[in-house]
Amino acid sequence: MNLADTPDEAAFRAEVRAWLVANAPPKGSPDDFSQGYGVGDGPDEELFLERSRAWQAKVEAAGFAGLSWPKEYGGQGGSQSKEYIYAQEQSRLGVTTEAFDVGVRMIGPTIIEHARDDQKAALLPPMLRGEEIWCQLYSEPLSGSDLASVRTTAIRDGNDWVVNGQKVWTSGAHYSKWAMLLARTDPAAAKHKGLTCFIVDLETAGFDIRPLRQMTGARHFNEVFMDDVRIPASAEFGAVNDGWHVVLTTLRHERSIIGGGHHGPTFAELAALAARSGDGSDRSRDLVDVHIGDRLLDLLDMRVQSTLSHGRDTTMESSVKKIFHGRHISRTVRLGLDLQGAAGMVTDGTEGDHWAHEALNAPMYRIAGGTDEIQRNILAGRVLGVPERKK
Ligand SMILES: Cc1cc2nc3c(=O)[nH]c(=O)nc-3n(C[C@H](O)[C@H](O)[C@H](O)COP(=O)(O)OP(=O)(O)OC[C@H]3O[C@@H](n4cnc5c(N)ncnc54)[C@H](O)[C@@H]3O)c2cc1C
Repeated sequence: MNLADTPDEAAFRAEVRAWLVANAPPKGSPDDFSQGYGVGDGPDEELFLERSRAWQAKVEAAGFAGLSWPKEYGGQGGSQSKEYIYAQEQSRLGVTTEAFDVGVRMIGPTIIEHARDDQKAALLPPMLRGEEIWCQLYSEPLSGSDLASVRTTAIRDGNDWVVNGQKVWTSGAHYSKWAMLLARTDPAAAKHKGLTCFIVDLETAGFDIRPLRQMTGARHFNEVFMDDVRIPASAEFGAVNDGWHVVLTTLRHERSIIGGGHHGPTFAELAALAARSGDGSDRSRDLVDVHIGDRLLDLLDMRVQSTLSHGRDTTMESSVKKIFHGRHISRTVRLGLDLQGAAGMVTDGTEGDHWAHEALNAPMYRIAGGTDEIQRNILAGRVLGVPERKK
């Protein structure tokens, strides 16, 4: 199997790389907008959002946003593999686009596949230009892995729907304008059948968004309470009671994003740390393991890209890569902490802070977008054809 770029892909990669090198703020520079992220809330977050918006607008103006989206909605009409190449190159430079990922990379493609033309025309261009941020109101306190069991209800009342319930772990709801909501519209139907998706404006009366502080100290996600939130029938997204089908599209994109690119500390950071921390122990074997893991991730990336460029479904590749990626980050971080000895436990404004933050953040990659166990269930059922055990 030849996983190398085609000549067209190689030319596109070179173009993207040159543009990013010329335009992306260097990691660690005063303009590096990803620095404010994850530190906490308040001014750091505001600065992060301001710079993220400016970056998204710049990418759009340069013609690198919505690479596979239809031209009439602000996209470039290109292939999925171009999207993938752009994301790979951007991630290689450590550019964080997290504020826009849920919209541009998960909900945007879902809107293109399932929404009405008027919804596409109104919502997609401002999303691509970085003017409006989106979040997904899916998970609930008792419905994470078993998402189809959501209990938030939307009851039809004249020309409106009235929504009541609670969501949790909603990334970015506190700074989003729009949300994609999954709610139960037919309580009598089988659990996957009575669900509908809606596009909701978070400024609508009845939303109560309460940020949750996670163990890194950041406030990345929220609890969202809905108390008689009235939304118009025009907010329906996809067919009524067919919401499960719509949500699966977002989840497919989410899996490939969380598992895609390289996140967490880089091998270069780890090697530099090892060179400085001479405690006499030989960790070369561990370093080689991490280096091999990096290379395997590159190869998995190439495989996803090649599958996309042949127009095939990437369920298998995305789930395998997501599992491997989460484990790889945990292993890299553990070695980074080990190399610092006791200093690795201290957060005092020095380098240890960075590694402590990464250590506290690492479990996230194995939960968000479907846990490792759920990815394994997907691989067992949908790829290997293992029958589900009768309950
Ligand atoms: C950083 C982060 C951001 C997130 N952002 C969002 C967001 O923006 N919007 C949103 O809606 N949600 C979001 N989530 C929620 C995420 O989708 C859920 O956390 C995830 O689906 C797991 O659900 P849960 O936390 O309820 O765990 P549970 O489903 O309660 O699972 C608990 C444990 O049981 C295991 N388990 C459950 N079912 C099975 C099974 N059938 N087979 C084997 N093992 C099983 C799980 O693997 C896990 O180890 C986010 C989560 C994180 C960590």
